[in-house]
Amino acid sequence: MRSILITGGSRGIGRATALLAAQRGWAVAINYVGNAAAAQAVVKEIEAGGGRALALKGDVSSEEDVVAMYEAADGELGPLSGVVINAGIVGPSRPLVEIETDRIRRIFEVNTIGAYLCAREAARRLARSRGGAGGSIVIVSSMAARLGSPFEYVDYAGSKGAVDSLTVGLAKEMGSEGVRVNAVRPGLIETEIHASGGQPDRAKRLGVTSPLGRPGQAEEVAEAIIWLLSDASSYVTGSFIDVSGGR
Ligand code: NAP
Repeated sequence: MRSILITGGSRGIGRATALLAAQRGWAVAINYVGNAAAAQAVVKEIEAGGGRALALKGDVSSEEDVVAMYEAADGELGPLSGVVINAGIVGPSRPLVEIETDRIRRIFEVNTIGAYLCAREAARRLARSRGGAGGSIVIVSSMAARLGSPFEYVDYAGSKGAVDSLTVGLAKEMGSEGVRVNAVRPGLIETEIHASGGQPDRAKRLGVTSPLGRPGQAEEVAEAIIWLLSDASSYVTGSFIDVSGGR
């Protein structure tokens, strides 16, 4: 059984990806930062379906936590063959002139530095020249990287723009190492991230303005992530899939 690690796998897009990955036969390490009950519920659901899963607490913005998380995943499930770099946060909606420095730092620490640390650790473990067996890294960016999120969270948008550059550059570094690196850019997806930014109805309210006329579901993003993780996308690297209803 091949194994994968999903950061922020306890809720939302990460949770949906963990459940779909387990259905497709992967053993899944589910990282979370605070909501142990949600992470354990995903593990239980996977085990109830006959799959294998493990919950791992760790803050992706902490190098120590990231290294420990990879060691635990490898140790418990066997060497990883894929990683989904998904954990992310937003802040309350407001224009940049009203955003305080601490918030900008935290958004970049989790969304950007966290993604870089997780990608670097994955690259170190998967690279053939370092004894790895190759594999697939999927980064969860955002349409915000392209749209800029004016008056809502341009800090968040910038933190995702950086991971788009990470995707392009790391894909070029890792091609000869047997490692593919791709990203998905979700649009307005119905998860709890919007409530954490103070707007629980944001995806529903704005989703109707997308060309497909509705918000997306976490399961629809998971399909794209799983395709990029799997051998079905074997000639795809440095690519982006916008899962945004055309937004
Ligand atoms: P969500 O429902 O709020 O879930 C966030 C997940 O990330 C949770 O599992 C949470 O763990 C984890 N997490 C948060 N901070 C963390 C940290 N410092 N270290 C480790 N894990 C952490 O969010 P979501 O909507 O599924 O978003 C997932 C990804 O998709 C994010 O990168 C987000 O930016 C991106 N995205 C989402 C949308 C959307 O509309 N939903 C659109 C574009 C992009 P706990 O359960 O322990 O808190």
